[in-house]
Amino acid sequence: MPYHLSPAKLSTYQACPAQYQFRYEFKLPGFGFGGASLGRSLHGALTRIYRDWDYSASPKPDLSWLDACWQSESQAHGSLTEAQVSEGYDILARYFQNWIAPLDRFLKPLMIEGKVQGHWQVDDLEFVLSGRVDRLDWFDVDSLALVEYKTSRKFVEPAIADLTLQVGLYALAINQQWERELKSATLIFLRPGESITVEVTNEQLAIVQQTITDLAIRLRAESRWEPTPGEHCDRCKYQQYCPAQTDQPLPIPDERSGASVLQLSLRL
Ligand code: SF4
Repeated sequence: MPYHLSPAKLSTYQACPAQYQFRYEFKLPGFGFGGASLGRSLHGALTRIYRDWDYSASPKPDLSWLDACWQSESQAHGSLTEAQVSEGYDILARYFQNWIAPLDRFLKPLMIEGKVQGHWQVDDLEFVLSGRVDRLDWFDVDSLALVEYKTSRKFVEPAIADLTLQVGLYALAINQQWERELKSATLIFLRPGESITVEVTNEQLAIVQQTITDLAIRLRAESRWEPTPGEHCDRCKYQQYCPAQTDQPLPIPDERSGASVLQLSLRL
């Protein structure tokens, strides 16, 4: 049975192996997402804008197309407040001014809101590398460019280590799936209307491969993974289990730690 890895999992592992183990190996409850309906609707509207446009009709859409897509999407998500509908329109209008209006021609992406998947083997342990991508564009005639939308309120310069891992993992999977090279990744922060683009390098690919190898070694050899405290602890939902946070961490329920040992023993 292969071991599944995603960019989010690898980022968690990079930040703190103990947090990774609590979340993905022991599957302890704690993480949850809420209040993201505007973000989901913005993603949905951008999918409609690129997926449903008639690319043979005219070189590029105008604001009325964006308006129509936002109306359809915001009505489909009846849970948005009036203020969120208005905020969402303003965010998309800013997106239009920054990333559509300057184009000579609106080009159809290779993939919109889809899954990418690849494989990586470390000795006898097979990893499945998978993640969802917001958009995969053509970089040139035979290479690709990844676009991801972020809905955080502020532009947050991603930590280089985190970006390296995420982009590297996407590149490994995309290069395999499409048999074409991923050349760049762009993160678009929709609310502030800013973006960052990074080139995909061989160094990123090498770092991801090394990180997966480290993970494979740990899966084989260690029953408890060390905590690496840092700023990320503020957002960690497992502090009560963490020996770096408290002198008396809660014990891991037997059935959880047992499940992990069973999983680890499957291939080893
Ligand atoms: S509290 Fe910090 S050190 Fe402990 S598991 Fe969470 S992220 Fe890791």
